[in-house]
Amino acid sequence: MIDKVYGGIEAGGTKFVCAIGTSPDNLVKTQFATTSPDESIRKAIHFFKDHTRLKPLTAIGIASFGPLDIDKNSPTYGYITNTPKDSWSNVDIAQKIHSQLNVPVAIDTDVNGAALGEQVWGEAQGLDTFIYLTVGTGIGGGGMINGKLMHGLLHPEMGHIRIPHDWQKDPYKGCCPYHVDCLEGLASGKAMELRWGQSPEKLPFDHPAWELEASYLALAISNFICTISPQRNIVGGGLMKNPGLMPAVRRKVELNLNRYVRSEAITKDIDRYIVAPALGDLAGIVGALELAKRINQDIC
Ligand code: ZN
Repeated sequence: MIDKVYGGIEAGGTKFVCAIGTSPDNLVKTQFATTSPDESIRKAIHFFKDHTRLKPLTAIGIASFGPLDIDKNSPTYGYITNTPKDSWSNVDIAQKIHSQLNVPVAIDTDVNGAALGEQVWGEAQGLDTFIYLTVGTGIGGGGMINGKLMHGLLHPEMGHIRIPHDWQKDPYKGCCPYHVDCLEGLASGKAMELRWGQSPEKLPFDHPAWELEASYLALAISNFICTISPQRNIVGGGLMKNPGLMPAVRRKVELNLNRYVRSEAITKDIDRYIVAPALGDLAGIVGALELAKRINQDIC
């Protein structure tokens, strides 16, 4: 018998997922489109109130798009800060949920949430230093270092690293409002759509767009391997649903590293070193539940 009930919210740029439960096999969930902050948060609160009439929640975990203020000593802890997403700048998402439902709330980035889900139930089980990267409309990355979710000054912004931009091969200028041709500016779903004039789901699997995409992702992952030394790289998100993309990324990472990083994980078993999330699209929401469960533990 389960004696505690946890809530999770995966707050994404396009959809909100809310769940009550304890694991991927034991959860009740709903999802709806992300609209205004007031409406989206109100729907989430309604879901939790509706499903916890008999038993109150012990805690809620939020895995949210960002940037976020996750400094527990900051007066704006739990805020979404300077996001370019309409009307979501300076929204106190964690405090709103906390004050309406009167339960403790833990918050982290969507990618750290998904990383935690994968560490408990998926591809990062038994690992303490790994990366979780998502490649969709935007690009974000998080993970763990030595068993703790990646935080620091703020939290990593892996989507905004600079990578070489070969203007002859790719004359598209980039679309990041802050950096123009950073990783997200060149390799996000939005960048693909603007460069090729159609949404990535509509681009045939053998379109040259995917070779270029693989090159950019491989450059980024090679940089992360050299800086963080992850034991594994988990790469999810909508664009990775093209079955040819992951093998192309692996091949290009091997070429970039040129056998310099001397580990058989890379030189002999790269298919298990750069992998898709085992939990698929559930990683974020079950990670949010896990954040709630560990609210009093020092994992952050
Ligand atoms: Zn950027």
